[in-house]
Amino acid sequence: MQQPLVIAIDGPAGAGKSTLGALLADRLGYLYFDTGVMYRALTLAALQAGIDLASCDAVESLARQIVIEVVAPSADDGRQYTVLADGNDVTWAIRSPEVERGVSTVARYPGVRREMIRQQQVIGQRGRVVMVGRDVGTVVMPDAPLKIYLEATLDERARRRADERHPQDEPPRPLGEVRSAMARRDAMDQHVLRPADDAVVLKNDGLSPDAEVDWIIDYIGRSDAEVAHPPLPPR
Ligand code: C5P
Repeated sequence: MQQPLVIAIDGPAGAGKSTLGALLADRLGYLYFDTGVMYRALTLAALQAGIDLASCDAVESLARQIVIEVVAPSADDGRQYTVLADGNDVTWAIRSPEVERGVSTVARYPGVRREMIRQQQVIGQRGRVVMVGRDVGTVVMPDAPLKIYLEATLDERARRRADERHPQDEPPRPLGEVRSAMARRDAMDQHVLRPADDAVVLKNDGLSPDAEVDWIIDYIGRSDAEVAHPPLPPR
């Protein structure tokens, strides 16, 4: 296929989207953009402002005012990028359990989605970008020439998430707690969680991120005729 200028990577929490997205962007020299940080930054700002997350109007109104920016890493502490909300560095704060509990409620509000999607499309339309999220291939960039939908079992996803540290010196979180929070979020995110009709679905239990990137780079290098009948993704 022709080198795709926009690559959409979607899938549930912990499916490995950010690891894959960052690696792939690095290999191609593209911008890596994780759309989930926008919903997280808005959730954090609402919590900090004492806004009841159940209040759709209040959260939607904040979504229209807040300025969320994702810029190059401003510290050497394991971050892939720096997230600014109204100028404040919220890169690690948006990974807190409180944000994780509230983010899917915030992300269901139509006015929030409209605003976030509009801003994401501005970034996507510049091209040379790997965009990661839930609805990038179906809603944000439906014309993206390459769409990947990642899947892995809940157990595997919870294990990966429990191993992550935000920031790196944070104590580990119990696996059972991570697993049930993730299952709750899966249920709340069902409304956006589906592969686009033309997405390549990759089940990646037991597959290393490097092997996954190699497979995708190889896939991009195939002719259109081969792509129309792609080999089964590795398991
Ligand atoms: O990917 P991440 O776990 O950071 O996303 C946080 C939450 O933001 C998701 O659980 C989902 O509720 C929401 N989200 C979304 N659409 C996206 C990205 C994230 O609704 N494109």
